[in-house]
Amino acid sequence: MAGIYVHIPFCRSKCFYCGFYSVASLHLREPYVTALCREMELRKAYLSAQETIDTLYFGGGTPSCLPEEDIEIIIHNLTCHWKLSKQIECSIELNPEDATPDKLRGLRRLGFNRLTIGVQSFNDHVLKQINRTHTVARALAAIEQAAGCGFDNIGIDLIIGLPGYTTTDLEKDLCILNSLPLSHLSVYILSIDNNSVFEKLLQKGKFKPWEDDVLAEQYLLVSDYMKNIGFEHYEISNFAKNSKYSRHNTAYWQQKRYIGLGAAAHSYDLDSRQWNISNIKTYIDTLSKDQLYFEKEILTKRDKYNEYIMTGLRTMWGVSLEVLTTEYAEFWKDVVRKKDEWIDRGFMRETDRKLRLTERGWLISDDIFSGLFSLS
Ligand code: SF4
Repeated sequence: MAGIYVHIPFCRSKCFYCGFYSVASLHLREPYVTALCREMELRKAYLSAQETIDTLYFGGGTPSCLPEEDIEIIIHNLTCHWKLSKQIECSIELNPEDATPDKLRGLRRLGFNRLTIGVQSFNDHVLKQINRTHTVARALAAIEQAAGCGFDNIGIDLIIGLPGYTTTDLEKDLCILNSLPLSHLSVYILSIDNNSVFEKLLQKGKFKPWEDDVLAEQYLLVSDYMKNIGFEHYEISNFAKNSKYSRHNTAYWQQKRYIGLGAAAHSYDLDSRQWNISNIKTYIDTLSKDQLYFEKEILTKRDKYNEYIMTGLRTMWGVSLEVLTTEYAEFWKDVVRKKDEWIDRGFMRETDRKLRLTERGWLISDDIFSGLFSLS
């Protein structure tokens, strides 16, 4: 089983917190779709034709800004090269302003069965401050319309730590969320990304991030609230109801094979990782000459151990002591004593021969990961 990720790097405008690779223009849309289809043709052997594709994810950027015809062309080409499972999880990221009834019906017709709607906040003032192009009313209508069109696996993204976004605002947002037909929440603590507008404002002293203890309080508030309303906190940033975990992202965390198509997209084949050039124009030009432009890293056993720690401990499933003491014993023996200290301090739990981080552990996960990594 394997996954396919399709990256659509176009946005209508640039959000102030965003450091992802995307451009605020659609003018290269057509040649980009042509290039994507060419990339599939050239890389079809990356995943075996026999392998069943279990998850398909359209991310961005803003994939929902593509017209239905373009998405149909992409899906048609995918099905020419790979065998999509009948039970495939087919997800697309959707901006609220794109969620018209026509668009939503079109996505259903194309086979999408999971939506991630980029809400970010249910506060219009905050949305303006981060340069989002939708309003709260539009986001609420998008969720209701999606449910009305038959989507029963709808998730939203929220960001905590935005300027002016208080704990009271967060409590109000969680109450609104609880009234909506949602089965998934991704919640991110604002990070100041390189090349984002917030990074520049910070450098000029025009932006003051919230203190760490406020962010920790808000993160734990979200976690408690979501658990009280029946969601599982299954990954550092993700909550799901009725086991509607993101199967696509869970496959990343469980080191399953996937191909990433499009500018800046990453791929993984169990032994190496590779990533396409992060430049739309170069991506299109290279593929128009039937060539690929990517970098590749072969993973050593040490890399695989480090990835196992980092991805496994992000999730509620944790890491297996069996795997650590057999497959990765040479690295684990040097750091094993640290786990007892984290268990004593309430950041980690050991049950059923599995190690898992607690919610407080997730808050300091970067420190825990770097403490357990094996460095050459
Ligand atoms: S957050 Fe999403 S919509 Fe906003 S600029 Fe980044 S990729 Fe585009």
